[in-house]
Amino acid sequence: MNDKSRPPSAVRVVKGVKGGYNPQRCVQPDSSGGGSAKPDRQPLTTEDYARGVLNRDSAVLGRAVTLIESNAANHQRQAQELLQRIQPHTGKSIRVAVSGPPGAGKSVLIEALGGFLTARGRHVAVMAVDPSSSLTRGSILADKTRMARLSQDPRAFIRPVPTGGTLGGVARKTRETMLLFEAAGYDVILLETVGAGQSEIAARSMVDFFLLVLVAGAGDELQGLKKGAMEIADAVVINKADGDNVPAAQLARSECESALHYLARGEGWHPPVLTASALEGRGVGEIWSQVERFQRESQAGGSWDQRRREQAREWLREMLDQRIRERFYRHRRVKDLLPTLEQQIQTGSCTVTQAVWEILRLWEENPSEVDEN
Ligand code: GDP
Repeated sequence: MNDKSRPPSAVRVVKGVKGGYNPQRCVQPDSSGGGSAKPDRQPLTTEDYARGVLNRDSAVLGRAVTLIESNAANHQRQAQELLQRIQPHTGKSIRVAVSGPPGAGKSVLIEALGGFLTARGRHVAVMAVDPSSSLTRGSILADKTRMARLSQDPRAFIRPVPTGGTLGGVARKTRETMLLFEAAGYDVILLETVGAGQSEIAARSMVDFFLLVLVAGAGDELQGLKKGAMEIADAVVINKADGDNVPAAQLARSECESALHYLARGEGWHPPVLTASALEGRGVGEIWSQVERFQRESQAGGSWDQRRREQAREWLREMLDQRIRERFYRHRRVKDLLPTLEQQIQTGSCTVTQAVWEILRLWEENPSEVDEN
């Protein structure tokens, strides 16, 4: 995947993205990059997209991600054609989720880790939380240029991802975007995630390695989040282990180690707990050694491939669920009948169970009566 003959690509993340999520405003193709196959706004054929992606042309790659993110039916069709075309070139990257509460230092750590990897000849794609679309941080960090150094690195590609929208929709787009990055020859994909519960579980279901970033003394309100995330973490890093904070970080590390001790994983892998200072770049090499050790050991034991097979199965099920649900709610007679039934339930003239049977019967009679608009 490290084909040296490929043209380098570069993007820069435009500072201070405000307002709604708009990938065109967040990522601009750098003029020093590989150059677009066609002038920027001219429509591209699926073959144009495929060639651009496979050549790691950052402008085309950016547009291909936008195509995948689009909800327009014709875009979705073309996106599926593109994915089918690039499919043989996927599956060779290491995918790592970098997760943790806001302020833990994820973006500084991704920048440090990304720089560490590109300095060793790796190509790194980052799917970063778009600060403008995140409720938790938009107002604080929208004006901060995140990952400024990495965004200038010709071996890196940073793509802000929307955090809003339905979870299923975001998950599909994230998975498909990762396939584009794989086909483009990015050997490491870093997926930044923020928040508790579902979004972390979703991230876990699409990566090979889940890195949890915590800081010492983050407060009791994070205990719940920490516990849930620790159950799925493949490694925990206590960040900001610098200056006066070193003893607290070391204490947090041993607390974390004993907490992990009670979370039996049954896979033969004991998630290590590390300390690091992303700001000073310390501990970053050790984090990567652990990722590589995990890869080596789980490939040897077969759990690497098994995890990927399970993820593919899960993806299929999720997508089917989502599509069936979409088709159901777009069904003409379902759309017509649903408000009436809801009213009848409220007035007590129909039970919920009766309503469900009635509406499913209608749907099953002619499931293709779908309203395409
Ligand atoms: P994120 O919300 O998890 O992405 O956190 P950021 O990467 O934006 O970092 C939040 C704050 O913590 C910023 O002010 C960083 O400069 C600071 N920070 C990040 N890593 C470190 C570190 O290793 N040491 C110290 N002292 N500060 C850090």
